[in-house]
Amino acid sequence: MTNPRFQILLAQHYGMCFGVRDALTEAERVASRRPATILGELVHNEAVRERLSKAGALEGQLEGESASTADVIVTAHGASDRDRRRWKNAGYRVTDTTCPLVRKAHVVLARLVLEGCTPVVIGKRGHVEVRGLTGDFPGAHVVLNEPEVEALPFSRRFGVVAQTTQPIDRVEDVLEKIRRRHPDAEVVFKDTVCHPTKARQKALETLCQEVDFVLVVGGHNSNNSRQLVEKARRNGCRSERVTRSGEIRAEWFSDTRVVGVTAGTSTLEESVEEIVVHLESLGGRRKVLPRPNAAAAFSGKKLAV
Ligand code: SF4
Repeated sequence: MTNPRFQILLAQHYGMCFGVRDALTEAERVASRRPATILGELVHNEAVRERLSKAGALEGQLEGESASTADVIVTAHGASDRDRRRWKNAGYRVTDTTCPLVRKAHVVLARLVLEGCTPVVIGKRGHVEVRGLTGDFPGAHVVLNEPEVEALPFSRRFGVVAQTTQPIDRVEDVLEKIRRRHPDAEVVFKDTVCHPTKARQKALETLCQEVDFVLVVGGHNSNNSRQLVEKARRNGCRSERVTRSGEIRAEWFSDTRVVGVTAGTSTLEESVEEIVVHLESLGGRRKVLPRPNAAAAFSGKKLAV
C-alpha cells in the first residue's frame, strides 16, 4: 500500500530533560567503574534501561533489604530520607541521582510540615516519586481523583505540593476540589510541577493547533508520556504512544495531513530520531528539523533547592 504523503512536525520542547540526562550520565559513570545496582528503574524508559544494562548496571528494589553489589544508585525519582539512610546504614555506597527538582519538592513539603500543615501530595498513588515524597511523613495524603479528594480528612491547614510530572491544569483542578471539599481550611499550595514538564505540555498545546495526529515517543510506564497522549486527545488530536518504530501502524496516517511528534522527559533523542526516520519511510516529510531543547541546555545541578 502506498501511503499518502504527510508532514512531520516536531514540538518546540520534547524529550529528555536535564534531570534524566544528568541521572543517566552519573549512573553510567558509576556502573562503568564498578558493579552497581540501581534501586528501581532509573527512569521509566525501556531504551534507557537497555543502555544502563549494557553499562553493567543491575536492577534492584528501593524498598528491598539488600543488593548484590556494594554500590547502589538512587534514581532520578528520588527516595525518602528514611530509605536513603537505611541503605547507607546497611553499609552500601549510595550514589544519589535524584533530580534537583524532585529534591526541591521534598524540601518544600518538609517546610510545610514544619509550619504545621497537614501534608498533601497531588499525584499518582504508588508512583515511586510520590512514595519518596510521602515516605518521611506517615500522615501524608495522596490525592488525584474525586474519591481521593472526598476521602481527605479535615485539617485546619493543608500544605499541598504536586508530583513534578503532573500537568499543571490537572493539579489546579484538584486543588480547587480540595478547597471546595474543605472551605473552612487554609490550603497552602506550592507549585512543584517541574518546568521541563510544563514546557513540554505547553509546546504540545501549540503543536495540537497545527497537526491532526500526535505521536508520543515514550516508555509504556512513563507517567509524563501518558499525560502527553491524554492532553493531545483533549486538544482534539488523535494520539498514540510508541517506544519503537516497529509499534507504528501505517494506517494511523491514512487520512492525516500533519503528524506531530513529541516525547516524554525520559525519552532519548535517538529514539525520537528513529521514529521520525520511520515516518519518513512511510511517506512523511519533516517540516521542521529538531531544534536544540532549551530545557536541556543547562544542568539542574546549578539550581538552588
Ligand atoms: S521530569 Fe522534571 S522532575 Fe523529573 S527528572 Fe525531569 S526535570 Fe526532574
